[in-house]
Amino acid sequence: MSTDDIIYDVIVVGAGIEGSSTAYQLAKRGQSTLLLEQFPLPHSRGSSHGQSRITRRAYPQAIYSAMMKDSFEGWKILQEESGEKIYNYCGTLYISPPSFLAPIETGLKVNKAPYRSLTLSELKSEFPAFTLPDDYAGIYDYQGGILYADKSLKAYQDQFKKYGGTLRDGERVDDVIPGDIVTLTTTTGNKYRGRNVVLALGPFTNNLLAKTGLQLPLKVQRVMVLYWREKVSGMHSSDKFPCFLDPAGSQGIRVYSTPSDEYQGLVKVCLSLGPVVDPYIREGVDISWVRERMMKYVTNRLPWLHPVPAIEEACIRTNSPDGHLFLDRHPKYENIVIAAGFSGHGFKLAPVVGKILSDLVQGKTPSFDMNYFKISRFDNGVVTNKSKL
Ligand SMILES: Cc1cc2nc3c(=O)[nH]c(=O)nc-3n(C[C@H](O)[C@H](O)[C@H](O)COP(=O)(O)OP(=O)(O)OC[C@H]3O[C@@H](n4cnc5c(N)ncnc54)[C@H](O)[C@@H]3O)c2cc1C
Repeated sequence: MSTDDIIYDVIVVGAGIEGSSTAYQLAKRGQSTLLLEQFPLPHSRGSSHGQSRITRRAYPQAIYSAMMKDSFEGWKILQEESGEKIYNYCGTLYISPPSFLAPIETGLKVNKAPYRSLTLSELKSEFPAFTLPDDYAGIYDYQGGILYADKSLKAYQDQFKKYGGTLRDGERVDDVIPGDIVTLTTTTGNKYRGRNVVLALGPFTNNLLAKTGLQLPLKVQRVMVLYWREKVSGMHSSDKFPCFLDPAGSQGIRVYSTPSDEYQGLVKVCLSLGPVVDPYIREGVDISWVRERMMKYVTNRLPWLHPVPAIEEACIRTNSPDGHLFLDRHPKYENIVIAAGFSGHGFKLAPVVGKILSDLVQGKTPSFDMNYFKISRFDNGVVTNKSKL
C-alpha cells in the first residue's frame, strides 16, 4: 500500500508544541490524523525543545489571560493522562516600573485570576536575591510557574499516538497541492492526502507557505538560553524564588527567568532578543552582544549569581510585527489552517491553540475572538501574487 492510498481527515505538518497539541486534540476528537515532522524526533532545530518554559495567567492583553484559563486546564489533563510531571507552579513575578504593570493587572482583574501587587519594599524583603531600581514594583501571579518543555512535547506526541494518530518524522513536506483533498509531497518521495491540513511550522513557516503563494510578516531570531550559577546554594530554588519577567529589563528589552530547578544551582536568565537568521542556516551569526548585555543585567539585578553564564543553549523564535499569533485559515484555501508567529510566548498557550485549531478544522466557532489572530490584520502585501515557487 502506498502512502497516498489513505485519505486522512487532517494532516498536521510540524511536530513542535503547537502542531503536537493540535494533532493530539484532533485524534482525541476522533479525527484520523497524520502528524508529519521534517527532523528525526526529538530535535533541537525548532522552538519547542529544552527543559523549561514560563507559564502565567498575567498578560498585558486580557484575551490571553482568558485563553490561559483553558490552557491550564489542558496542561492538567495532559499531566493526568500521561502520568508525567509536566509543570511546577512555583509562581511568576513581574517586576517593572508601574507603567508596565498596569495593563497586566487589568488583565488579571478582568479574568478574576489570583494575584498580588508588591511595592518596592515588599519586593526587597520577600525576594532578597534581587537588586532593583527605585521606580520598580511587582505583580505576583499565583498560577504561574514552570512547564517542562521536552516532557510536555513528548507527552503530547505519545498521547496522540494512543488516541490512534500516526506520527512520521524525518520527512520534510516540500510541496502543498491545494484542493478538496490536499496533497503533500515530502523529501522522501512520499505523497500524503488529507481533507484538511494544519501548518504549524514555527520558524520555517514562510519556507513552505511560499508554495501556496503566501508569505506572513515574520521575523526569525536566534536567541540564547543562558544559565547562571548561584553563589549561595538554594537561594534561587523554585520553592523560594519564582519565575520572573522584567519587561523593562535590559534597555527596554524583556528579560525572563526560571528559578533553579532543572539543573541544580543554575538559574535561567535570558534576553528576549537575538539576531535575525534564516532558520535553516542559523549558526555563524554574532550573538556575543546578547551574552554581554545579560552579563551586565545579572551583575546589576541578580548579585547572588555569578555574572558569567555557566551553560549556553540555542533556540529560535518567530516574531509577528505586533507580537500576536496567527491562527487562521489560508486566505485562498479554506481547508488549510495556519498557526504561526508565536513571538516567544506560545508554549504555555499550546493546549488552547490545539483546541482553537481543531475547531477551525472542524468548522466549529472557537470560544475566543479570532479577529485578534487573523492574517488579514496585516493585509498590506502579505498575500503575494507569486505563483507557486
Ligand atoms: C528561548 C525561548 C524561550 C521561550 N520561552 C517561552 C516561555 O517562557 N513561555 C512560553 O509560553 N513560550 C516561550 N517560548 C516560545 C515557545 O517556545 C514557542 O512559541 C513555541 O515553542 C512555538 O512552537 P511551534 O510548534 O510553533 O514551533 P516549533 O517548535 O519550531 O515547531 C515547528 C515544527 O515544524 C517542523 N517543520 C517546519 N517545516 C516543516 C516541513 N516543511 N515539513 C515538516 N516539518 C516541518 C519543524 O521542524 C518544527 O519541529 C520561548 C521560545 C524560545 C526560543
